[in-house]
Amino acid sequence: MSKYVRKLYFCRICNKSHPIKIPRDFAESQKRYPFVFFAIHKYTGDSDEYLDKKEKDIIATLYIDKNLAIRDVDVAWEDSSANIISEYDTQKLVGFLIDHINELQDAYDHLMEKYTKSLASSEKTNKKEGENEGI
Ligand SMILES: [Zn+2]
Repeated sequence: MSKYVRKLYFCRICNKSHPIKIPRDFAESQKRYPFVFFAIHKYTGDSDEYLDKKEKDIIATLYIDKNLAIRDVDVAWEDSSANIISEYDTQKLVGFLIDHINELQDAYDHLMEKYTKSLASSEKTNKKEGENEGI
C-alpha cells in the first residue's frame, strides 16, 4: 500500500480540481475529525478577473475526515506578508501547531475532568450536609 493517498479537491478560484497527496497515516494520528490539512498551489485558472494573478500562490484549507475523504475546502490567495516558503514547510509548521493545540486540548480535558470530579465530590459533601441539617 502506498504511503500516500491521492485525492482531488475543487478550487473555486481556479475553477478546477487540483491533486493532493495526503500521507495515509496522517488521519490515524489526529485526535479530532475532520482535521485540517493545508496545501499550496499556483493559480492555474483562466478567468479574466485574475489576469494579474498568474502563478500567484493559493492556500487551500482541506477538512478531511477519518476515512481521508475531503469534506470541505477553503481557498484563499496567499498573503505575501505571511512569507510561506513551501507546502512542505507549511505542513511542518501546521503539524507543529496542531500538535501544540492537541497538547493544550489534552491539558484542558485533564483539568476539566479534575474540575468535574471535584465538583461532583463537593456536591456529594453538600448533599450530606444538607441531609444532616434536615435531621
Ligand atoms: Zn486553484
